[in-house]
Amino acid sequence: MPVTHAPAPADVLRRQDPELADILLGELDRQSTTLQLIAAENFTSPAVLAALGSVLANKYAEGYPGARHHGGCEIVDVAERLAVERARALFGAEHANVQSHSGSSAVLAAYAALLRPGDTVLALGLPYGGHLTHGSPANFSGRWFDFVGYGVDAETGLIDYDQVRTLARSHRPKAIVCGSIAYPRHIDYALFREVADEVGAYLIADAAHPIGLVAGGAAPSPVPYADIVCATTHKVLRGPRGGMLLCGSELAERVDRAVFPFTQGGAQMHTIAAKAVAFGEAATPAFAAYAHQVVANAKVLAAGLAAEGLVVTTGGTDTHLITADPAPLGVDGRTARGRLSAAGMVLDCCALPHADARGLRLGTAAVTTQGMGEKEMSHIAALFAHVLRGEVESQKARDQVRELAGRFQPYPG
Ligand SMILES: *Cc1c(COP(=O)(O)O)cnc(C)c1O
Repeated sequence: MPVTHAPAPADVLRRQDPELADILLGELDRQSTTLQLIAAENFTSPAVLAALGSVLANKYAEGYPGARHHGGCEIVDVAERLAVERARALFGAEHANVQSHSGSSAVLAAYAALLRPGDTVLALGLPYGGHLTHGSPANFSGRWFDFVGYGVDAETGLIDYDQVRTLARSHRPKAIVCGSIAYPRHIDYALFREVADEVGAYLIADAAHPIGLVAGGAAPSPVPYADIVCATTHKVLRGPRGGMLLCGSELAERVDRAVFPFTQGGAQMHTIAAKAVAFGEAATPAFAAYAHQVVANAKVLAAGLAAEGLVVTTGGTDTHLITADPAPLGVDGRTARGRLSAAGMVLDCCALPHADARGLRLGTAAVTTQGMGEKEMSHIAALFAHVLRGEVESQKARDQVRELAGRFQPYPG
């Protein structure tokens, strides 16, 4: 049975399967008593969770509204049309496909729409923050396409746009991908467009991370520049786990056919309904204020970490995302992540442009949804440093984190 009341497990689940209900409550407790600093995470609203746990989960709906391979789609067609219309309006895109099951499937569909196996693709190298779908040998992308990687400047941490141009001229890629899992600065989409045009390449923007900031007007939009924009709906955008694609009318049919039937079967209508809810929320002034606060918080947190001695990549951030090297505090990234996690501060490790050792990657999307502001960011930076320097016992830090989180409940009541 679907969970109908979010976020607490429905009474029916508690009665029928207390074992599983306890697991959900345990995770709710974990999320409510620790700090979610993973840059890709957020707290969806109860309305989004309600759509996810609805009877739309029962419906098979292969195809697109008005052209399904199953009967009984007249209601879910309305839901998908609504999601598409809201996405188009939110991002000013001629076409939106909201069916991709994840960010990775959206990227797969973008490649399927524009490329043939064996084509050359220029993307940010994985050691510099490229995603697995940007040419990892462990991923379909690395096996089916010939990826060439550009990098970031070792000193500044900024994308080396001169290198992008040089590599584009020498390799003549069929597509150029811009977008990253760990780049804290705005991307110069106009410049990427210029290079793509110069060498006759498609431009694919994988905006999985910043798309929520774009929705709230807190980051530049790739939509006017990229042939296809791929994105997730669950990061700063604060919707359900899933992906989407935006493009101009001329590529609409190719993109739709690349998603279904080329890479996916039935659409997940409960997720698509939840995406519609999230797009509706993201179109409000409250969400714009949220997106700007996410960035303001990240700037304060980055400055706080730098003041405590961590080396913040690029010297700061334009977005929700920060990467930093804790080495000056005497710990490597992995050790740091372990200590912070024991204290209830949950975040990731990542590659660093200037060092072989791993660094830390964190973001402010989730803590900002909880209502935390600049003051709390300074507090978190101080807690970080205390924990990394070993100035405070792990249990004491854990108590302080619990106290802070307790004041900003993601799901009050
Ligand atoms: C998160 C992310 C993805 C993948 O999203 P999933 O939903 O985890 O598949 C792809 N590309 C980039 C740049 C990302 O940040």
